[in-house]
Amino acid sequence: MAIAPEQAPDEHVTTFLLPEHHVRGAILRVCAGVSAMVGRRDVQPDVRRVLGEMCAAGPLMAAHLKVDGRLALQIQDGAQLALMLIQIEDDLRTRGMARERGEAPAGSFEELTRGGVFAVTFEPRNGQSYQALVPLQGVVVAEALEGYFDQSEQLPTRFVLASNGDCLAGLMLQRLPEAGAAADAGWDHARALLDTVTPDELMAQTPATMLHRLFHADDLALHDPQPMTMACSCSQARISRMLLSLGEKEVHDIVEEQGLVTVTCDFCGAVYHYDRAQVQALFSAEQATQESPPRSGLH
Ligand SMILES: [Zn+2]
Repeated sequence: MAIAPEQAPDEHVTTFLLPEHHVRGAILRVCAGVSAMVGRRDVQPDVRRVLGEMCAAGPLMAAHLKVDGRLALQIQDGAQLALMLIQIEDDLRTRGMARERGEAPAGSFEELTRGGVFAVTFEPRNGQSYQALVPLQGVVVAEALEGYFDQSEQLPTRFVLASNGDCLAGLMLQRLPEAGAAADAGWDHARALLDTVTPDELMAQTPATMLHRLFHADDLALHDPQPMTMACSCSQARISRMLLSLGEKEVHDIVEEQGLVTVTCDFCGAVYHYDRAQVQALFSAEQATQESPPRSGLH
Protein backbone atom coordinates (compact mmCIF):
# COMPACT_ATOMS: atom_id res chain seq x y z
CA MET A 1 0.00 0.00 0.00
CA ALA A 2 1.31 3.44 -0.83
CA ILE A 3 1.64 5.97 1.97
CA ALA A 4 2.58 9.64 2.03
CA PRO A 5 6.27 10.70 1.93
CA GLU A 6 6.01 12.42 5.30
CA GLN A 7 5.63 8.95 6.80
CA ALA A 8 9.26 7.95 6.30
CA PRO A 9 10.59 8.10 9.87
CA ASP A 10 14.09 7.78 11.29
CA GLU A 11 15.11 4.37 12.73
CA HIS A 12 13.28 2.71 9.82
CA VAL A 13 14.06 1.58 6.30
CA THR A 14 11.47 2.97 3.89
CA THR A 15 11.26 1.37 0.46
CA PHE A 16 9.56 3.13 -2.42
CA LEU A 17 8.75 2.92 -6.08
CA LEU A 18 8.86 5.47 -8.89
CA PRO A 19 6.45 3.55 -11.13
CA GLU A 20 6.57 5.86 -14.13
CA HIS A 21 10.38 5.62 -14.18
CA HIS A 22 10.64 1.86 -13.46
CA VAL A 23 12.88 2.56 -10.48
CA ARG A 24 12.71 1.38 -6.89
CA GLY A 25 14.57 2.66 -3.87
CA ALA A 26 15.13 2.61 -0.15
CA ILE A 27 16.15 5.24 2.39
CA LEU A 28 17.16 5.18 6.04
CA ARG A 29 18.56 7.33 8.80
CA VAL A 30 19.34 5.66 12.10
CA CYS A 31 21.11 6.77 15.28
CA ALA A 32 20.07 4.31 18.01
CA GLY A 33 22.83 1.81 18.67
CA VAL A 34 25.21 3.34 16.11
CA SER A 35 27.76 4.82 18.49
CA ALA A 36 28.19 1.48 20.29
CA MET A 37 28.44 -0.58 17.10
CA VAL A 38 30.42 1.90 14.97
CA GLY A 39 31.44 5.11 16.75
CA ARG A 40 33.15 3.61 19.79
CA ARG A 41 34.95 0.86 17.88
CA ASP A 42 38.62 0.47 18.57
CA VAL A 43 39.57 0.89 14.92
CA GLN A 44 41.19 3.66 12.92
CA PRO A 45 38.90 6.55 11.85
CA ASP A 46 39.04 5.69 8.15
CA VAL A 47 38.08 2.08 8.89
CA ARG A 48 35.28 3.29 11.16
CA ARG A 49 33.86 5.41 8.35
CA VAL A 50 33.83 2.43 5.98
CA LEU A 51 32.20 0.28 8.69
CA GLY A 52 29.47 2.88 9.16
CA GLU A 53 28.77 3.19 5.45
CA MET A 54 28.62 -0.58 5.05
CA CYS A 55 26.23 -0.76 8.01
CA ALA A 56 24.05 1.85 6.27
CA ALA A 57 24.08 -0.04 2.97
CA GLY A 58 23.25 -3.47 4.42
CA PRO A 59 19.65 -2.84 5.52
CA LEU A 60 18.91 -0.97 2.27
CA MET A 61 19.98 -4.05 0.32
CA ALA A 62 18.21 -6.46 2.68
CA ALA A 63 14.95 -4.52 2.37
CA HIS A 64 14.97 -5.23 -1.38
CA LEU A 65 16.47 -8.70 -1.44
CA LYS A 66 14.02 -9.99 1.16
CA VAL A 67 16.11 -12.89 2.42
CA ASP A 68 14.14 -15.15 4.74
CA GLY A 69 17.07 -15.37 7.09
CA ARG A 70 20.33 -13.45 7.18
CA LEU A 71 22.18 -11.36 4.61
CA ALA A 72 25.91 -10.85 5.11
CA LEU A 73 28.22 -8.37 3.38
CA GLN A 74 31.93 -9.02 3.56
CA ILE A 75 35.11 -7.32 2.53
CA GLN A 76 37.91 -9.88 2.54
CA ASP A 77 41.67 -9.63 2.16
CA GLY A 78 42.00 -5.92 1.53
CA ALA A 79 45.46 -4.31 1.69
CA GLN A 80 44.75 -2.77 5.12
CA LEU A 81 41.45 -4.40 5.95
CA ALA A 82 41.68 -8.14 6.59
CA LEU A 83 37.95 -8.52 7.11
CA MET A 84 34.81 -6.47 7.42
CA LEU A 85 31.58 -8.32 8.07
CA ILE A 86 28.08 -6.84 8.25
CA GLN A 87 25.18 -9.13 9.16
CA ILE A 88 21.57 -8.12 8.59
CA GLU A 89 18.78 -10.30 9.98
CA ASP A 90 15.41 -10.42 8.25
CA ASP A 91 13.99 -8.07 10.90
CA LEU A 92 16.74 -5.62 9.77
CA ARG A 93 18.70 -5.95 13.01
CA THR A 94 22.22 -5.09 11.86
CA ARG A 95 25.67 -5.55 13.33
CA GLY A 96 29.15 -5.12 11.92
CA MET A 97 32.81 -5.75 12.72
CA ALA A 98 36.19 -4.91 11.21
CA ARG A 99 39.57 -6.59 11.48
CA GLU A 100 42.41 -4.33 10.46
CA ARG A 101 45.72 -5.33 8.91
CA GLY A 102 48.95 -3.49 9.68
CA GLU A 103 49.89 -0.85 12.22
CA ALA A 104 47.59 2.06 11.53
CA PRO A 105 45.36 1.54 8.50
CA ALA A 106 44.48 4.83 6.85
CA GLY A 107 43.46 6.23 3.51
CA SER A 108 40.58 6.10 1.10
CA PHE A 109 38.28 3.11 0.79
CA GLU A 110 40.28 2.13 -2.26
CA GLU A 111 43.56 2.24 -0.36
CA LEU A 112 42.16 0.26 2.55
CA THR A 113 40.62 -2.49 0.43
CA ARG A 114 42.98 -2.74 -2.55
CA GLY A 115 43.28 -6.31 -3.81
CA GLY A 116 40.32 -7.51 -1.79
CA VAL A 117 37.06 -9.16 -2.71
CA PHE A 118 33.48 -8.28 -1.87
CA ALA A 119 31.13 -11.10 -0.92
CA VAL A 120 27.39 -11.11 -0.43
CA THR A 121 26.10 -14.19 1.38
CA PHE A 122 22.47 -15.19 1.57
CA GLU A 123 21.78 -17.39 4.58
CA PRO A 124 18.13 -18.49 4.42
CA ARG A 125 16.57 -19.90 7.56
CA ASN A 126 15.76 -23.06 5.62
CA GLY A 127 17.92 -24.28 2.79
CA GLN A 128 21.40 -23.75 1.46
CA SER A 129 23.41 -20.57 1.89
CA TYR A 130 24.88 -19.13 -1.24
CA GLN A 131 27.47 -16.49 -1.89
CA ALA A 132 28.26 -14.08 -4.71
CA LEU A 133 31.88 -12.88 -4.87
CA VAL A 134 33.21 -10.00 -6.94
CA PRO A 135 36.58 -8.23 -6.99
CA LEU A 136 36.43 -4.98 -5.02
CA GLN A 137 36.50 -1.87 -7.14
CA GLY A 138 35.61 1.70 -6.39
CA VAL A 139 37.00 4.77 -4.73
CA VAL A 140 34.21 4.84 -2.12
CA VAL A 141 31.95 2.22 -0.54
CA ALA A 142 28.98 3.26 -2.72
CA GLU A 143 30.95 2.56 -5.91
CA ALA A 144 31.99 -0.88 -4.69
CA LEU A 145 28.36 -1.81 -4.01
CA GLU A 146 27.29 -0.44 -7.38
CA GLY A 147 30.00 -2.62 -8.93
CA TYR A 148 28.60 -5.64 -7.15
CA PHE A 149 25.11 -5.06 -8.55
CA ASP A 150 26.58 -4.46 -12.04
CA GLN A 151 28.66 -7.59 -12.07
CA SER A 152 26.58 -10.00 -10.06
CA GLU A 153 22.98 -8.99 -10.58
CA GLN A 154 23.25 -6.91 -13.79
CA LEU A 155 21.03 -4.32 -12.10
CA PRO A 156 22.00 -0.65 -12.42
CA THR A 157 22.06 0.62 -8.82
CA ARG A 158 23.20 3.80 -7.10
CA PHE A 159 23.95 4.56 -3.46
CA VAL A 160 24.58 7.61 -1.30
CA LEU A 161 25.93 6.61 2.14
CA ALA A 162 26.89 8.62 5.20
CA SER A 163 28.25 7.83 8.65
CA ASN A 164 29.56 10.11 11.39
CA GLY A 165 29.95 7.51 14.12
CA ASP A 166 26.73 8.57 15.89
CA CYS A 167 24.24 8.14 13.05
CA LEU A 168 24.06 6.45 9.65
CA ALA A 169 22.14 7.47 6.57
CA GLY A 170 21.69 5.79 3.22
CA LEU A 171 19.77 6.09 -0.01
CA MET A 172 19.64 3.47 -2.73
CA LEU A 173 18.03 3.55 -6.16
CA GLN A 174 17.77 0.59 -8.47
CA ARG A 175 16.38 0.09 -11.92
CA LEU A 176 13.61 -2.48 -11.89
CA PRO A 177 14.78 -5.85 -13.21
CA GLU A 178 11.99 -6.12 -15.75
CA ALA A 179 12.45 -2.59 -17.12
CA GLY A 180 13.24 -2.64 -20.85
CA ALA A 181 15.15 -0.18 -23.02
CA ALA A 182 12.13 2.15 -22.95
CA ALA A 183 12.89 2.79 -19.27
CA ASP A 184 16.36 4.26 -19.96
CA ALA A 185 15.08 7.82 -19.69
CA GLY A 186 13.43 7.06 -16.35
CA TRP A 187 16.64 5.64 -14.92
CA ASP A 188 18.63 8.62 -16.19
CA HIS A 189 16.12 10.96 -14.54
CA ALA A 190 16.23 9.19 -11.17
CA ARG A 191 20.02 8.89 -11.24
CA ALA A 192 20.44 12.56 -12.06
CA LEU A 193 18.30 13.46 -9.03
CA LEU A 194 20.31 11.14 -6.77
CA ASP A 195 23.55 12.70 -8.01
CA THR A 196 22.44 16.00 -6.45
CA VAL A 197 22.48 14.46 -2.94
CA THR A 198 25.63 14.71 -0.84
CA PRO A 199 26.28 12.46 2.16
CA ASP A 200 26.19 15.52 4.44
CA GLU A 201 22.75 16.48 3.18
CA LEU A 202 21.47 12.94 3.56
CA MET A 203 22.64 12.95 7.16
CA ALA A 204 21.17 16.37 7.91
CA GLN A 205 17.67 15.81 6.50
CA THR A 206 14.95 13.47 7.67
CA PRO A 207 14.14 10.72 5.14
CA ALA A 208 10.73 12.35 4.63
CA THR A 209 12.28 15.73 3.76
CA MET A 210 14.84 14.08 1.52
CA LEU A 211 12.22 12.14 -0.44
CA HIS A 212 10.13 15.26 -0.85
CA ARG A 213 13.11 17.31 -2.01
CA LEU A 214 14.03 14.70 -4.62
CA PHE A 215 10.76 13.34 -5.90
CA HIS A 216 8.07 15.98 -5.25
CA ALA A 217 7.46 16.27 -9.00
CA ASP A 218 7.32 12.50 -9.56
CA ASP A 219 4.78 9.83 -8.86
CA LEU A 220 6.22 8.34 -5.66
CA ALA A 221 4.75 5.25 -3.96
CA LEU A 222 6.05 4.53 -0.47
CA HIS A 223 5.74 1.17 1.24
CA ASP A 224 5.26 0.75 4.97
CA PRO A 225 8.50 1.68 6.75
CA GLN A 226 10.24 -1.29 8.42
CA PRO A 227 11.87 -0.64 11.82
CA MET A 228 15.61 -1.32 11.90
CA THR A 229 18.05 -1.56 14.78
CA MET A 230 21.80 -1.56 15.18
CA ALA A 231 22.23 -4.26 17.77
CA CYS A 232 24.28 -7.34 18.49
CA SER A 233 22.82 -10.80 18.99
CA CYS A 234 25.53 -12.11 21.29
CA SER A 235 24.53 -13.45 24.72
CA GLN A 236 25.89 -15.51 27.57
CA ALA A 237 23.92 -18.52 26.24
CA ARG A 238 25.49 -18.22 22.77
CA ILE A 239 28.99 -17.86 24.17
CA SER A 240 28.36 -20.91 26.38
CA ARG A 241 27.34 -22.92 23.30
CA MET A 242 30.49 -21.77 21.54
CA LEU A 243 32.64 -22.94 24.49
CA LEU A 244 30.83 -26.28 24.56
CA SER A 245 31.59 -26.73 20.88
CA LEU A 246 35.31 -26.14 21.57
CA GLY A 247 35.29 -29.15 23.89
CA GLU A 248 35.96 -29.66 27.58
CA LYS A 249 39.69 -30.29 27.37
CA GLU A 250 40.46 -27.21 25.35
CA VAL A 251 38.40 -24.92 27.60
CA HIS A 252 39.86 -26.43 30.77
CA ASP A 253 43.36 -25.90 29.35
CA ILE A 254 42.60 -22.20 28.90
CA VAL A 255 41.41 -21.93 32.52
CA GLU A 256 44.53 -23.73 33.73
CA GLU A 257 46.75 -21.41 31.76
CA GLN A 258 45.00 -18.09 32.28
CA GLY A 259 42.83 -18.61 35.34
CA LEU A 260 39.81 -17.36 33.44
CA VAL A 261 38.24 -17.83 30.03
CA THR A 262 37.60 -14.44 28.47
CA VAL A 263 35.62 -14.13 25.25
CA THR A 264 35.17 -10.76 23.56
CA CYS A 265 32.41 -10.38 20.98
CA ASP A 266 33.95 -9.30 17.66
CA PHE A 267 30.84 -7.29 16.83
CA CYS A 268 29.85 -5.26 19.89
CA GLY A 269 32.93 -5.65 22.08
CA ALA A 270 30.98 -7.21 24.97
CA VAL A 271 33.28 -9.23 27.24
CA TYR A 272 32.22 -12.56 28.76
CA HIS A 273 34.18 -14.19 31.59
CA TYR A 274 34.08 -17.77 32.86
CA ASP A 275 36.03 -18.79 35.95
CA ARG A 276 37.02 -22.35 36.80
CA ALA A 277 33.76 -23.09 38.66
CA GLN A 278 31.63 -21.73 35.82
CA VAL A 279 33.51 -23.80 33.25
CA GLN A 280 33.00 -26.90 35.37
CA ALA A 281 29.30 -26.15 35.82
CA LEU A 282 28.90 -25.56 32.08
CA PHE A 283 30.36 -28.93 31.09
CA SER A 284 28.68 -30.91 33.85
CA ALA A 285 25.30 -29.45 32.91
CA GLU A 286 26.00 -30.46 29.31
CA GLN A 287 26.96 -33.97 30.41
CA ALA A 288 23.80 -34.32 32.50
CA THR A 289 21.74 -33.29 29.47
CA GLN A 290 23.40 -35.85 27.25
CA GLU A 291 22.85 -38.63 29.81
CA SER A 292 19.14 -38.02 30.09
CA PRO A 293 17.88 -38.12 26.54
CA PRO A 294 14.61 -37.20 25.51
CA ARG A 295 15.14 -33.49 25.99
CA SER A 296 14.80 -30.85 23.37
CA GLY A 297 14.57 -27.11 23.14
CA LEU A 298 18.23 -26.57 23.85
CA HIS A 299 18.67 -24.34 20.87
ZN1 LIG B 1 28.06 -8.84 20.62
